[in-house]
Amino acid sequence: MSLPLVLPDDTQAALDQIAAAARSYLETLDDGPVRLPDADAAAARFGGSLPEHGVGTLAALDELVRDGLDAATRSSGPRMFHFVTGGGTPAALAADWLTSVLDQNAFSWVASPLGARLEQVTIGWLRELFELPERFGGVLVSGATLANTTALAAARQWWGERHGVDIARDGFVGLPPVPVLSGGYLHTSATKALATLGMGRGSASRYIADTSGRMDVDGLARALSDLHGAPAIIIATVGDVNDGDADPVDRLADLAERHGAWLHVDGAFGLFARLSPRSAHLAAGVERADSVVADAHKWLNVPYDTGFAFVAHPGLLGKVFSMDAAYLPRPDEPRPNFGHLAPEASRRARALPVWATLRAYGRAGYRALIERHLDLAIRLARRAADHPRLELLREPVLNVVPFRYHPGGLDDPAALDDLNRRIGEALVTDGRVYAGTTRYLDVVAFRPAIAGWRITEREIDLLADVVVELGDRLR
Ligand SMILES: *Cc1c(COP(=O)(O)O)cnc(C)c1O
Repeated sequence: MSLPLVLPDDTQAALDQIAAAARSYLETLDDGPVRLPDADAAAARFGGSLPEHGVGTLAALDELVRDGLDAATRSSGPRMFHFVTGGGTPAALAADWLTSVLDQNAFSWVASPLGARLEQVTIGWLRELFELPERFGGVLVSGATLANTTALAAARQWWGERHGVDIARDGFVGLPPVPVLSGGYLHTSATKALATLGMGRGSASRYIADTSGRMDVDGLARALSDLHGAPAIIIATVGDVNDGDADPVDRLADLAERHGAWLHVDGAFGLFARLSPRSAHLAAGVERADSVVADAHKWLNVPYDTGFAFVAHPGLLGKVFSMDAAYLPRPDEPRPNFGHLAPEASRRARALPVWATLRAYGRAGYRALIERHLDLAIRLARRAADHPRLELLREPVLNVVPFRYHPGGLDDPAALDDLNRRIGEALVTDGRVYAGTTRYLDVVAFRPAIAGWRITEREIDLLADVVVELGDRLR
């Protein structure tokens, strides 16, 4: 088997082979474990040194399927509650395959009219889905971490301009530290973005109102007053990873307006609260923010990796991310060239799966999905509250349900933490369902998140049952 010429061209056979493997894999999703018992061993079977002579297309894919499927986490199935994990809807998954077949470079209109147009349409549809005003421009990136980075780069540029400095052009030279104000829900990806952008991982001051971490609006107001009109960046979180709660964005928007601050909202999954009247209050006021980000690979159920950033002053994105070369389209060209608004230059046409799933299921389909998940969160909360050896730590406000194993008679906090940590480790090794532990209200707790479209009541009950079973065994 030799390149540059692969003869015969076995692309068709390769796609058939993978389609067959995909069919059998998908059939195992509903009833099989998230993690196979020999997953680690299967992963370890990959290795060796670089082959001098390849084994050929079909043999290589055969190996990938054989060991790869055993090592893979069934995270797009209904038993996945770890992190905040979606899974591809049928339309999104199929469109994602097509994205690879078409292999478009979504840098510019010239590189791909399809990629550019669908990104333009998709950003408009997402803006409608979340009821954001027309002034918001947007761009697709690889996830909420990069969306935070993209939006906060626009915020940084705005902040520099307020000091008379073009940071994208000249850097931070001569500028004071950037005041970044936040609460306890601040996601670690936002601090990573601050580190990436040179504003400092530890720069965010946190104003925390209650034990769970909600932002203290009065404390924030005092901090803003102390700045005496100097520009600042406020980072709000809608959808805390531990309990789904949100900072009071509407009140933060009042403060941002009064003090001339930039309000950024990280709504990686929480932004979807806007889709149902049952949860929309959590994300009220987001339309008043300066920048808003969310993930597509969480609650929108698009395969990895896609998220999006909205900026209410989209010209700032171009100031940071535009590129200048004689062979590239000019940033001021009327046709959309998203490479001038995004951190990457060459980029996957991520709009295809997002467009396909919105076209296939529409606003009503997603509202129904969110509401089904709200119901499932309530069901899990009731299971935890009613079971004698489970303890619900907070009534669900969205789709994350913090609870722990707590048998009667065991009240030593350290022992309870240790037991729940061990159950968490056993749960992942057991593999029937997947959920992780966190520290919540100062105790070790489970924080299952319900975001996959395949999840039903059956898996909710299974999760509660398996935690009890493992807890009973380990106590
Ligand atoms: C998941 C999450 C992120 C990071 O998203 P990635 O897709 O992993 O980059 C950021 N913020 C919040 C609130 C999240 O839940």
